[in-house]
Amino acid sequence: MSIESPTASGPASASDQQDPSPHEGRLFVLSAPSGAGKSTLCRILRQRRPALRYSISYTTRPIRTGEIDGRDYFFIDANVFEAGIGTGRWLEWARVHGHYYGTASDFIDRTLAAGNDLLLDIDVQGTEQLVQRYPRAVTIFIMPPSMDALRQRLVKRGTDAPDVIAARLRNARVEMTARFRYRHIVVNDRLDQTVEELLTLMDAAGRPTTAQA
Ligand code: ADP
Ligand code: 5GP
Repeated sequence: MSIESPTASGPASASDQQDPSPHEGRLFVLSAPSGAGKSTLCRILRQRRPALRYSISYTTRPIRTGEIDGRDYFFIDANVFEAGIGTGRWLEWARVHGHYYGTASDFIDRTLAAGNDLLLDIDVQGTEQLVQRYPRAVTIFIMPPSMDALRQRLVKRGTDAPDVIAARLRNARVEMTARFRYRHIVVNDRLDQTVEELLTLMDAAGRPTTAQA
């Protein structure tokens, strides 16, 4: 599989973390195999909850048609990303499908400290690193209704060549085995129902002082 683990400058451990202030925002993490509908769901959740902040990840993968630098991702060179690993710039980072992806620590810390709720779309490896630092994060794994539906969505999306789709489907099987490490598992069958389910779950999630890991 094309998923690798970080080897340097891991995030701070839970023991480094102080208790969050009562006014600190909540952290929502969405993970899913590619094509399950994570980007679509994040977009709708942000429209439905305009106060929800979104962490724009940094990546070294090529920009896709329709994507905008600074809106969908910050697209950066591998040497810049690697320098960031050395300086502890990333709260979490991973290599997924042969490219680096990472979350900027300073944005997350500032946003939560200001009392804003925050949504992240990151992979399984990144989530594991993040919950070390933020054990009260509300982690949600999005499942496709079936492997066949996942394949159809990847084909319909039209952004990936057949060999890339095949690799994403192989990775999906591995990624889905991690779903039980998440607080919530949500099957994205009918989009409108999934959105309502996520909003209910997010609205019910406790503030940092009441939620427990
Ligand atoms: P991801 O970000 O997880 O890779 P996308 O959000 O790009 O996935 O969704 C992949 C494709 O599946 C897109 O064409 C999207 O419109 C479609 N899609 C998303 N959710 C659903 C759903 N519940 N039912 C049918 N198609 C969906
Ligand atoms: P895509 O290239 O299809 O946008 O994303 C590929 C994978 O990278 C998805 O599983 C997505 O959740 C993950 N990803 C996106 N941003 C980050 C990030 O900042 N950190 C980590 N660990 N994974 C990310």
